[in-house]
Amino acid sequence: MSAAAEAALRTAEALERSAGLNATLHWSPELLRAEAARADATRAARGSDPALYATPVAVKDNIVTVEQPTTCASKILEGYTSPFTATAVERLRAAGAMVACKSNLDEFAMGSSTEHSAFGRVMHPEFPDRVPGGSSGGSAALVAAGVVPVALGSETGGSVRQPAAFCGVVGFKPSYGRVSRYGLVAFASSLDAISVFSGTTSNAARVLQVISGHDPLDATSLLEPPVTVGPARGSLAGVRIGLPAEYLPADLDPGVRAAVERTADLLRSSGAELVDVSLPHTRYAVPAYYIVAPAEASSNLARFDGVRYGHRAAEQGDVAALYAATRGEGFGAEVRRRILVGSYVLSAGYYDAYYRKAQQVRALIAADFHDAFQQVDFLLAPTTPTPAFRAGEKTEDPVAMYQADIFVCPANLAGVPAISVPAGRSGGLPVGIQLLAPYRKDADLLELAMTVEAGLDRQAEVR
Ligand code: GLN
Repeated sequence: MSAAAEAALRTAEALERSAGLNATLHWSPELLRAEAARADATRAARGSDPALYATPVAVKDNIVTVEQPTTCASKILEGYTSPFTATAVERLRAAGAMVACKSNLDEFAMGSSTEHSAFGRVMHPEFPDRVPGGSSGGSAALVAAGVVPVALGSETGGSVRQPAAFCGVVGFKPSYGRVSRYGLVAFASSLDAISVFSGTTSNAARVLQVISGHDPLDATSLLEPPVTVGPARGSLAGVRIGLPAEYLPADLDPGVRAAVERTADLLRSSGAELVDVSLPHTRYAVPAYYIVAPAEASSNLARFDGVRYGHRAAEQGDVAALYAATRGEGFGAEVRRRILVGSYVLSAGYYDAYYRKAQQVRALIAADFHDAFQQVDFLLAPTTPTPAFRAGEKTEDPVAMYQADIFVCPANLAGVPAISVPAGRSGGLPVGIQLLAPYRKDADLLELAMTVEAGLDRQAEVR
């Protein structure tokens, strides 16, 4: 049996065993076998092992593939299969990787806990009464449970870094435009970024090297070749790392604060200089994000009308009645809430007060990063204000759920790359720290993160 066929078999067994997590939406042993055969054909054509030969990858179910359905965890897309495959998935396969499954998510990637899936919530792999984070909770749980070494998720406002921190794995969001969005179902197009989960930073780097690079099918993709990531940095002498005051508020969870402090100590002992910096508009990031993202979502989701994709209501009236009935039946409460907020902030009477203002604030947030990166090479911050919260804790209070994104959504608004690295445990729960870099400095960021990861015992209690 080839290495790919063996890996496919092992992955199928692991997926079977992890069924209780509810982390997957579509997979089958037959499809895995077909993926293995494809990886072997790629290898035979090349005459050597491609970069990701026989690597099983979980793919968030808002990234389209021809072989499996794509539902975005929504009833409105139940039974829908795309006629084309996302560029990132095509590139993974060309490098010998295998799609292991499509993973569960918050409906249309809207949420921070993966409790908003139309197909049931995803369990935290170690603490079943807690959430794995979201919206890419299925991919995070599968990597944390050891079912797959790497997975694709998507970020609009932290949906890979936040679940990575909650589950104790690496979550990397590249610079906006670094990875083609072709085949990523659009949530907020000016923010969306296909992003990577992995056990180790070096595996995230291996995936980025394969999926990055200009794609003529995405007009916003950077006109640059694939990223090349070097080895971990040895000495950090001469490297300046900023600690933003706004990311270390007085009410920060003590375990999260301890994880940041221990990382700062490690960076200092490796020769880096730690510098206090300020990103003064941080407190406006969540309000700005929750105007810009729903505004774009209300426009992007207009295409789900019962005519072009998936579910269609039985309504027999005129076409407007058909649209309304289909959308009312097909979209869950959180998605409906976003569409209503987005339509409101874009409406003629409120555009200036909300949408235009939010775009101005977004520019100030981007300028904060620009200014900070005049003084320092990287930023160190917590990924989340607390470790994984309990299931049900925030489902009745959407604003409390939104506030959990405070430290992650600024990087999306500014387009800069950011990574969450496991930094220990607080009361047994995983805690992540976040490193951020200037726009397009993805390779530098990953090289720094490898150094940090090597110096932190991710199982150690830090509080
Ligand atoms: N939690 C954020 C939201 O609900 C981010 C989602 C995402 O990054 N896809 O919009």
